[in-house]
Amino acid sequence: MAEKIDPNITSKIVYNLNIYEKMILRIKGSIKIGEFQHGSWSGSLPFYLFDCPEHGYQINYASGYGLKLHCPMCLQERISMIENTIAQMA
Ligand SMILES: [Zn+2]
Repeated sequence: MAEKIDPNITSKIVYNLNIYEKMILRIKGSIKIGEFQHGSWSGSLPFYLFDCPEHGYQINYASGYGLKLHCPMCLQERISMIENTIAQMA
């Protein structure tokens, strides 16, 4: 899972999209913003900007077998929910 990206950085990227990039984002639902290497990764991965219906614009890399884009904030909420459930069971 990607680390949370500063919302100010996400806002700046959205602000700096040109009209063509904004169209791609609208039509495809996501746009590649670059290739980045994270921490101990052996190589870089493409990162995408996309719109989460719940949390607005987010940045992440595609993951899983279907190479889907998951909102880092939605994932964090799910993890917290699971942790709370486990804590209540103890
Ligand atoms: Zn979300």
